[in-house]
Amino acid sequence: MELSAVNDARQTGLASLLADLATGRTELVDLTTPLSAATPTLELPEPFANLIDFSLEEVSAYNAPGPYWKHHNIHTGEHIGTHVDAPIHWATGRDGKDVAQIDPARLLGPAVVLDVRAEAAADPDFLVDIHHIRAWESEHGALPKGGWLLVRTGWDSRSQDRESFLNKDEQGHPHSPGFTVECAQWIGEESPLSGVGVETVGIDAGAAGGQQPPFPAHHFLLGNDKYGVTSLRNLAQLPPVGAALIVAPLPIVGGTGSPARVFALVDA
Ligand code: MN
Repeated sequence: MELSAVNDARQTGLASLLADLATGRTELVDLTTPLSAATPTLELPEPFANLIDFSLEEVSAYNAPGPYWKHHNIHTGEHIGTHVDAPIHWATGRDGKDVAQIDPARLLGPAVVLDVRAEAAADPDFLVDIHHIRAWESEHGALPKGGWLLVRTGWDSRSQDRESFLNKDEQGHPHSPGFTVECAQWIGEESPLSGVGVETVGIDAGAAGGQQPPFPAHHFLLGNDKYGVTSLRNLAQLPPVGAALIVAPLPIVGGTGSPARVFALVDA
């Protein structure tokens, strides 16, 4: 056996992954929506208090305050743009983990994609139910242990337009897809998932304040040490099954969430 063949045979795991990335056999897909002052933020109705939008504050720009450098202060809420919801974000998870305490191993795992674009196009208040997941499983196999369910609604096409992204009616009520109460409870209490990822501003439907309990995805996922990731894009580049997800929030001590960079690895 030639030495090169021996080396090839020994090339396993990480070396194999890096080689596949170098040759393009495996591709890195960025699922993150760029973060700027224009990023649409969740708008809660009165009497609730809202987070601030993201903004950059110039401190110096190669000028007197810093002649050789440019740097900014960033001003942002935790739950802005593509971000992670940690358990302590919700009352049901108040004794759980903050965003810095989430085990990174839970943030890297297999991702599956549920495509409900047609349903969401027909009804902006569309709710994923257990039977949609069961139908997906009958075609693609069981949901992966420690995995992430990514819900493709087509909402990412609205992400740069606050009005259509939040999709409020004349009364100011938002309409965007989410989960049924039963489905949220099943994901939280019974599914093998680490969490769910969505293209919308939050993991619950726009009208989820009217569900019982209100905001069931937050209620049941965060209350069961499962996590949410929002404002994803580029799910079109992922297969229904077979991608690997990397969710990378900032480890903000005491934080209830954090803007995150989210990547997928996919075989080309
Ligand atoms: Mn959030």
